Amino acid sequence: MTPDFDKGNGLLSIILQDRRTGQVLMNGFMNEEAYEKTVEEKVVWFYSRSKGRLWKKGETSGHIQAVKGMALDCDNDALLIQVEPHGPTCHLGTQSCFGDDHFSVQSLEKIVERKIAHPEEGSYTKYLTDEGLDKILKKCGEEMTEIVIAAKNDDKKEIIDETSDLMYHLLVMLQHQGVSLKEVEDNLKERHGENLTYKVREDIDEW
Ligand code: AMP
Ligand code: ZN
Ligand code: ZN
Ligand code: ZN
Repeated sequence: MTPDFDKGNGLLSIILQDRRTGQVLMNGFMNEEAYEKTVEEKVVWFYSRSKGRLWKKGETSGHIQAVKGMALDCDNDALLIQVEPHGPTCHLGTQSCFGDDHFSVQSLEKIVERKIAHPEEGSYTKYLTDEGLDKILKKCGEEMTEIVIAAKNDDKKEIIDETSDLMYHLLVMLQHQGVSLKEVEDNLKERHGENLTYKVREDIDEW
């Protein structure tokens, strides 16, 4: 698959998406040279329409965008790039140029990761990880038991609350054991591959 630069008068429309959380980060443009540099260096280069020159995203801020996957749209004039951002993508300081109300379980994984790497005073996550695996596992068991009780009581609000508790503690456990949600997701994808109602496009390359 090759991008069609002619349709956009030499410019390809680019959408950056956080590979992990799925958050849409930014829209930009590439000319052919920016595209080639991006493919070669596996970091995002744009063509800045206002500056009228090539622009490596992060050239001054240091917030570069590592390319993890790409997919052209149906008529090859727009490119979705899945990235690992090295800092906020928007120059106004937000993760996304479209605002930061995005949330996914992967966002929570990122928060847990940050809380462990940069612990704050009185942090419960830090307390848990300092206590160690047995404590984390005990909490996972307790939260599961609370889900069982909530379900038996037919208490929907309580089921949601306790499931949230369990998911958080599971994420702490996975982090502690060095397992990422991506690995769990890949495993689920493999298990349910034949049942997917859509086929993943073949031009989404693994980088
Ligand atoms: P950077 O590429 O992150 O080093 O930013 C360099 C300059 O490019 C900034 O000062 C902005 O003028 C512009 N810029 C960076 N990121 C964005 C963005 N997401 N949207 C629009 N302009 C941006
Ligand atoms: Zn298109
Ligand atoms: Zn922005
Ligand atoms: Zn609970």
